[in-house]
Amino acid sequence: MTYDSGNVFAKILKGEIPCKKVYEDTHVLAFHDINPQAPTHVLVIPKGAYVSMDDFSETASDAELAGFVRGVGKVARQLGLVEPGYRVLANHGRNANQDVPHFHLHIFGGRNLGPMLKRPE
Ligand code: AMP
Repeated sequence: MTYDSGNVFAKILKGEIPCKKVYEDTHVLAFHDINPQAPTHVLVIPKGAYVSMDDFSETASDAELAGFVRGVGKVARQLGLVEPGYRVLANHGRNANQDVPHFHLHIFGGRNLGPMLKRPE
């Protein structure tokens, strides 16, 4: 899948639309999700143009991969989530209902997050 540079997170990176920024460094930008699913729901995105987990894990440089993982850890510490606990999630593709085609991790926290996945109805 080719990267669509008109996606909403690309626009946030370019400063074309606003976000509630939590953290930024060379490799990552973290901001609050516009439709939070938990008391804390933050998205962490790489600054490079990667469509998804599959694309990022295959084509990002070692520096980008390391910078991203370090960034996710820093954000969780900054949000005070280490002691109470948190969940990290990435949706890739159709079965996971990935909505925005710029790779991102969700960080959830602030309450007991319950079972890992909703059971099928
Ligand atoms: P996913 O289904 O993993 O692609 O998740 C996309 C997430 O992006 C959803 O949780 C949305 O609420 C969130 N989202 C979409 N647009 C924005 C935006 N402009 N600012 C912050 N979060 C957004």
